[in-house]
Amino acid sequence: MILKAAAKHLLYRGGGLSAFRRFRQDTLTVLLLHRVLPEGDPRARTADPGYTLRLETFERCLDAVRHWYQPVSLSDIENAVRNRSKLPRNALLVTFDDGWEDTARYAVPALQSRGIPGVVFIATGAIGNEHTPWRDIAACAWRAGVFGGPASGAKNASSIEALWQWLESLPEEERIRCLDKAADDAGEAVRPLMMSPETLRRLAHEGFGLGGHGVSHTPLTKLADAESELRKCGAEFRELTGRSPTSFAFPHGLYTRLELQAAQRSGFDLIFTSDRHLNPLRDGRPLSSVFGRISISEEDVTDSDGRFIPEKLAYWLTLQPIKTLA
Ligand SMILES: [Zn+2]
Repeated sequence: MILKAAAKHLLYRGGGLSAFRRFRQDTLTVLLLHRVLPEGDPRARTADPGYTLRLETFERCLDAVRHWYQPVSLSDIENAVRNRSKLPRNALLVTFDDGWEDTARYAVPALQSRGIPGVVFIATGAIGNEHTPWRDIAACAWRAGVFGGPASGAKNASSIEALWQWLESLPEEERIRCLDKAADDAGEAVRPLMMSPETLRRLAHEGFGLGGHGVSHTPLTKLADAESELRKCGAEFRELTGRSPTSFAFPHGLYTRLELQAAQRSGFDLIFTSDRHLNPLRDGRPLSSVFGRISISEEDVTDSDGRFIPEKLAYWLTLQPIKTLA
């Protein structure tokens, strides 16, 4: 393990990585992020560590990718797919899923101050709504250690999964009452969780990239009628932002060919999966309008002391397969 790290370090310092990167320059790299929180924000201790970057780590990642890549916007990709323009070499798009309040508060300003475009894929039902996605709210409250609710069974839940199972067994009304109480008890350790409609409208007004991510955040593969969820997502998105969404990211990254086709039929031209791969370009144009994305966690880019290690990010982003999704 140590030898492997040392070899990577040598390769990075010795320029081997940059040679490898040159070999992969005809690709589009799409980053997949969720939450970004500074240590001082009370929500940092209740957010899912696997899906959260510290603000400082996120900023170091942005400085590094700005140096290595050519950041592009969602419209740049749309234009390239429609043959109106070309993407640069080493193109990179930064994307966020769900519509967390902290994305707007911390991540968007960090991007804007560096002139890096980005996209947020919005679960429309979660905007200004404290009960969607309820599993996340429950998990944050559970981590805050204050999940009370009317039943002591939930308070003693041994794991988040056990808590979810118990909440799932409740009638919807009672579940909502439970979640309300838990969120009240956790207070600023969980709130605000998702963006408000006003915040979303401000992002739209500022020209920040926005796309759809379902309504309820339920995987499309689990819905009896995925197409009606996709249409509803489009309608709610238009109501919230005043624009029609042209791109979509699958909730939980789950899809089959059926959901892919349903999304395309519902007017989403660019589809973003959570499949971990780079996207090939030919003459500055993507070979498909369905894209893979590379998620980044704290663990992927920092050492055991939480220090950002640029080599780790470089390897994580470069040593991924190049694939085309039809
Ligand atoms: Zn999501």
